Amino acid sequence: MFEFNPLRDMFYTWLFYGWIGLAGVSFVALRFIPASYGKFTRAGWGPSIHRSLGWVAMELPAVGVILFLFVTHAAYTNLVYVVFLSVWQLHYINRTFVFPFRMRGKKTSISASTVLFGLLFNLVNGYFNGHYLFAGDNPLYGTGWLSDPRFLVGLGVFIVGFGINIHSDELLRALRKPGETGYKIPRGGMFRYVSAANYLGELVEWAGWAILTWSPVGFAFFIWTGANLIPRALSQHHWYVETFSEYPQNRKAIIPFLV
Ligand code: NDP
Repeated sequence: MFEFNPLRDMFYTWLFYGWIGLAGVSFVALRFIPASYGKFTRAGWGPSIHRSLGWVAMELPAVGVILFLFVTHAAYTNLVYVVFLSVWQLHYINRTFVFPFRMRGKKTSISASTVLFGLLFNLVNGYFNGHYLFAGDNPLYGTGWLSDPRFLVGLGVFIVGFGINIHSDELLRALRKPGETGYKIPRGGMFRYVSAANYLGELVEWAGWAILTWSPVGFAFFIWTGANLIPRALSQHHWYVETFSEYPQNRKAIIPFLV
């Protein structure tokens, strides 16, 4: 399916397949045990840290690792790599430095174990993507790639997903006035179709990334995003239906009209 260079060596190859396998394990585990934060916060997950600080710590490796690999491989000499980095950072600069400081509500802490899992994921995922994209010398990524239909379609998909994600995060934020706590039924935007519209946006974004980079690492990231977010979206949907008797019955969990 993909035109890509062989992965660099045996160790890297097995690490990569192990990584995809781990996404399956994570999917099953999260289906039964939602991570302890937000609506599913509960005791027994160890010490907690400040929520905004936790989000920054969790997401910072995604910003830093890829930037480090971009610089150390002198990837700035190739316009395609500059575009890849910009697309990636568009998402992660918002997620790391903007989103955590705009959250409202009474939960001002997050469990350190959730942060640790997120941090490790971002470290490994950032490494795989940066290493494959910037160190691989892939012939696919000449300047012609920027007018290739796969790149253009992928970029379009990414932008649509990013728009849905940001818009949905804002709709959730607007449900609470400053100082307000508690949960309400989200409405508008893609929430008309799914309970976890923010997760839908994220999933679409990384599908776009997989297409625009046409890479196994992009594809693995998409699989991992699904493994993280689909179980949580199902739990959230169930929670909404149980909590609000007037919850819209035609809404799905994460994929409009389907799931
Ligand atoms: P949630 O939808 O659980 O919460 C987002 C924010 O909205 C929180 O501040 C939450 O408050 C608030 N909120 C949620 N539902 C309601 C409601 N019904 N009424 C009022 N306020 C509400 O999202 P996550 O925190 O899980 O994720 C945040 C972002 O990070 C998303 O955009 C998601 O896509 C992304 N993400 C990406 C992952 C990946 O693997 N790529 C993994 C996890 C998240 P409170 O904290 O009080 O619940």
